[in-house]
Amino acid sequence: MSGAPIYNRVALIGLGLIASSMFWAMKRHGLAGEVTGFARSEATRATAREIGLCDRVCDSAIEAVEGADLVVLCVPVGAMGEVAAEIAPALQPGATVSDVGSVKKAVIEAVGPHLPEGVHFVPAHPLAGTEHSGPTSGFAELFENRWSLIVPVEGSDRAAVERVEQLWQGMGALTDEMDAEHHDLVLAVTSHAPHLIAYTMVGVADDLRRVTDSEVIKYSAAGFRDFTRIAASDPTMWRDVFLTNKDATLEILGRFTEELFALQRAIRTGDGDHLFDYFTRTRAIRRGIIEAGQDTDAPDFGRVKKG
Ligand code: NAP
Repeated sequence: MSGAPIYNRVALIGLGLIASSMFWAMKRHGLAGEVTGFARSEATRATAREIGLCDRVCDSAIEAVEGADLVVLCVPVGAMGEVAAEIAPALQPGATVSDVGSVKKAVIEAVGPHLPEGVHFVPAHPLAGTEHSGPTSGFAELFENRWSLIVPVEGSDRAAVERVEQLWQGMGALTDEMDAEHHDLVLAVTSHAPHLIAYTMVGVADDLRRVTDSEVIKYSAAGFRDFTRIAASDPTMWRDVFLTNKDATLEILGRFTEELFALQRAIRTGDGDHLFDYFTRTRAIRRGIIEAGQDTDAPDFGRVKKG
């Protein structure tokens, strides 16, 4: 369903999974008059032009943001500051700058100081993604029924915040507001630490010479393959996440290590009650996620059996 556009001109800086999904969703729902886009490499800009990603692909970030009433930074977290510095002189008064970075405190610190007076800053983070990246990986449904967290900064203009929220809702997302510090802790629990654990598990399997590579791949349906999907996520993005959400991630990993030791002890001492109670508690969490409509109840995530 499409109504009046929420923004006349939106500029997307960075043209990967999130930006391309935003573009297709904004177009489908008629949320933006014109969408301009810029990515750092000529190759990505050429692909974007080829597949019709953005109404106009620009050869500089400055050109893309000129006349935009919303600019969304869709680059890796570690690149947000330099991009903000580059576009700052071209931002029009009254424009809103937002971002989609997976970490909020570090992005606010990196971007905020560059923005001129009269430009609104409304950080955001859609909790939706896949292990794929790049301009061809996006799709209009990515944000549907997924949360997008809006993280207003001190002195954020309410009207500007609500407009960004409306945009996300228009793309099918559920929205909530949160402060940056809390956001980073919540994400350390729900996303950042789990990714690190998946990276580690896949790395360990790779190191363990007593199990051959072909066995790991052949028998991966026993659990391993679900780790590999997460561990296939973009290395640049995830390097930046850990470098910028250091404190919260280390706090959660500290807790994780303690629990892991307790489970190790239970296995060593044959404490079946401990294991059973623990697994009963974790099963209830899974049930809660399904009841909240955040994953499928189909066995094996609904994978279709072959043969
Ligand atoms: P992506 O598919 O890897 O795309 C990143 C884009 O940023 C590419 O177009 C890349 O250009 C551009 N870029 C990289 N460094 C740049 C720089 N220094 N200057 C200008 N452009 C630059 O990434 P993504 O998955 O869309 O992630 C984008 C942001 O969304 C990240 O901050 C990430 O934390 C956040 N996020 C990701 C997910 C997820 O699951 N993927 C979910 C929520 C939020 P080239 O192609 O030319 O290199």
